[in-house]
Amino acid sequence: MVTELTDRVTYCGRIITFEGDASGSLRVREARYMTVEGGRIVEISNDRPSGDLVDYSDHVILPGFIDTHVHLPQLHERARISDSLLEWLERYIFPAEMRFSDPDYAEKVSREFFAELVSKGTTTAVVFSSSHEEATDVALRVAAETGLRAVIGQVLMDRNGPEELLTTPEEAGPSIRRLAERWHGYGGRLYYAVTPRFAVSCSMELMKTAGALAREMGLYVQTHLSEQVEEVETVRRLFPDVPTYTEVYDRAGLLGPRTLVAHAIHLSDRERRLLKRRGSSIAHCPSSNFFLHSGVMNLRRHLSFGLNVALGSDVAAGPFTSMLDVLRDAYYANFMRPEEAFYMLTMGGARALGMDDIIGSLERGKQADFVVVKPTTVSDSDDTTEVLSSLMILGGDVKATYVAGRRLWEAA
Ligand SMILES: [Zn+2]
Repeated sequence: MVTELTDRVTYCGRIITFEGDASGSLRVREARYMTVEGGRIVEISNDRPSGDLVDYSDHVILPGFIDTHVHLPQLHERARISDSLLEWLERYIFPAEMRFSDPDYAEKVSREFFAELVSKGTTTAVVFSSSHEEATDVALRVAAETGLRAVIGQVLMDRNGPEELLTTPEEAGPSIRRLAERWHGYGGRLYYAVTPRFAVSCSMELMKTAGALAREMGLYVQTHLSEQVEEVETVRRLFPDVPTYTEVYDRAGLLGPRTLVAHAIHLSDRERRLLKRRGSSIAHCPSSNFFLHSGVMNLRRHLSFGLNVALGSDVAAGPFTSMLDVLRDAYYANFMRPEEAFYMLTMGGARALGMDDIIGSLERGKQADFVVVKPTTVSDSDDTTEVLSSLMILGGDVKATYVAGRRLWEAA
């Protein structure tokens, strides 16, 4: 580490940050200099302050990217073509996750996974681990050592999966408790999420156990919702007394302001209203949705109900670890201005985690989580929208990634 947290350092570059809410009052701010001290932003302006300067003049400096849905044990299962979600799980994903019964293997992949994320500018990740308590413990330890922010949970399943990956409500409770007691809030950067994979692979009793612990211990909740039509029909068969998929989670006590549901493609308005009432957020995973041909999430409809939408890579159904690739697919899925896309990536993620007062934008008093990036196409344009549009569609090279003022990664 070159920079120490106590140092006072000013970074120079084209600083662009996004504030406001998704309903239209989005503000884009630009500055030239950002001063960081003790891990926080203490000053942001166009006037050069005195003191040490790190010069990123030819680069764009953005708030750190927030990936709100990604599967660690699936890192090496990207681009596995399959006929359907359920077939893809059985053929590729469950066998890959079974290998995490070996803690040494879990450690190796965890190191590759977090190194990969920070090299792509991700400063906060919301992560599904495997079904194994020990592998999840390893993932949390490696995340702590890497230094990024992360919300991580052990995947819960008690039916419709291979025997080796199944738990029971009696086993799952103590396992969640042990991991959460050790890691939830660790270092102010790590948090625990109860993680029922999805309603297809969980009994109501298992989901209720998870929901009760999430409420008791103030944990996050992450799961999948309404990704494919076949999956929605399966849930209807498994829970014939519950009117909608979303209400299955609600009856289990899983929906609250700390809940992230991934995909949410095939939703009714009744379900949108319920998610809004509970204050839950949606992790929109467009790259994954294109890859598995799951459908296109209707962003405008979700936003019209006041829902908070964040972005997720959903590796490995999503082929890309870079959130810039995910942004491009989000644009193809739903027309949006690049400012809105970057807002969803940064503040949308922060709001989903209830962390919008500490991360998500580059403002005085917030944690200095930022990414330094050079657009692939160097244009001489002064126009902010054109620069952001270039980054969104053509991508960029990440030069450096910082979390709480500490440089976690820098390009050679
Ligand atoms: Zn997923």
